[in-house]
Amino acid sequence: MRNYRNSPQVLSFNHFNIDDLRGRAAGRWVEILEAAGVPSSLLEGRIGRPCPRCGGADRFAPMKDIEYRGAVLCRRCFNSSTDPKAGDGVATLRWWLGLSFPEVCKWLGNYLGGGVASPRVRERVYSIPIPSGKDSKRFELIAKVWARNMRPRWIEKAAQLLGLPTDPLIRLCVGWSPEHRASSWPMRDDAGSIIGIRLRCPRTAQKWAVRGSVAGLFFSPELRLIEHCRRLWVVEGPTDTAALLSIGLDAIGVPSAGCGADFLLGMCRWLLPQEIVIVADRDDAGRRGAEKLADAVVIVAPVRIVSPQVGKDARAWVCSGAGCDVIESAADTARAHAVVMEELK
Ligand SMILES: [Zn+2]
Repeated sequence: MRNYRNSPQVLSFNHFNIDDLRGRAAGRWVEILEAAGVPSSLLEGRIGRPCPRCGGADRFAPMKDIEYRGAVLCRRCFNSSTDPKAGDGVATLRWWLGLSFPEVCKWLGNYLGGGVASPRVRERVYSIPIPSGKDSKRFELIAKVWARNMRPRWIEKAAQLLGLPTDPLIRLCVGWSPEHRASSWPMRDDAGSIIGIRLRCPRTAQKWAVRGSVAGLFFSPELRLIEHCRRLWVVEGPTDTAALLSIGLDAIGVPSAGCGADFLLGMCRWLLPQEIVIVADRDDAGRRGAEKLADAVVIVAPVRIVSPQVGKDARAWVCSGAGCDVIESAADTARAHAVVMEELK
C-alpha cells in the first residue's frame, strides 16, 4: 500500500482559521461531504444503513441538521468513543478521508476558498464507488422544470442584474427554484449530463448547491457539438461562462478556481481545441487554480493563461466593455504553455 502520509502534498500546510472555516461551512455540509466523495444517498434521511467504511446493516446514519453541522455516526467505527470523535463536519471529514486535523483544515480551506483538494484526497475519492445513476436523472428533470419556471421577464431581470444579455443564460439552461428563491445553474459532467445544480441568490449573489449535487462544469449543451474548436475558453463559475458566451467565445466554466480538472480534461479530449485559454480571476486563488487546470489539460493542447485587464473576473471584464477582439488579443500576447515531446532516440 502506498504511504500517503509521507506525501509532500499532504505535508505542506497552510494556516486556516478553524472558526472561520466552520462558519463558512455551516449550511453547506452536504455539498462539502459530497465533494469529499461521500455518496449523496448516505446523507439523506436519518434511517440507519450500512456504513460506507465498515459495512453492517444499519449502523450508519447522518445526524440531525447535517447541512449545518456535518455530523454523521457509525455505531462501530465513528462515534463518541472513536478517534476522531464524531460530532461535526470537520470530524466527519477526518474520519472519511483519513486525514489529520491540520490536513482537513487545509482541504476545507482549499475547498471553500475555491482551491483543489490535495492529490491524496482525490485518489481516495476515486477509490470509492458512487452508487447508481439516479441522481443524474433527477437533476436533468429538476433543471428542466426550473428552466421552464423562468418567465421571459424574470430571465431579463436575472441577466440585467449580472449586466449581461439573456441569450447566454438561456443557453446555459438557467432556471428559477421557487423553493430556494434562487436562480439555478446546471452543472454537467464531460458527457454533458447534468450532475448537479448550483444556486445563486439574485439579491446577495450567495452561492450554494442543490443537495446531492456533484461539482461539475458550466457549459451550453451545444458546445459538445462544435466540430472545429479554435480556442476553448475556461473560466471560473457560471456567470463568467455566461459573460464569455455573450461575446461569442466558446466558454466553459469550472465549479471554482482549480476545480473540475477531470471533467475539463474530458471535455478537452472530446473537443480537441487548437488552444485552451484559461481566464484566471485576478486573485491568488484564481492564479493558482488556473495553473493547476493548465497542468491538467496541457496534454491536449497548448494553454494560455490570461487575467482580466479590467475588473476582478471575466464577467467584470466583459461588463467593462471588453469585446471578443480585446479579450482575444490579450490571449494572443499571453505565453503559451505546451508539452514538449522528447524525440525518441
Ligand atoms: Zn463504520
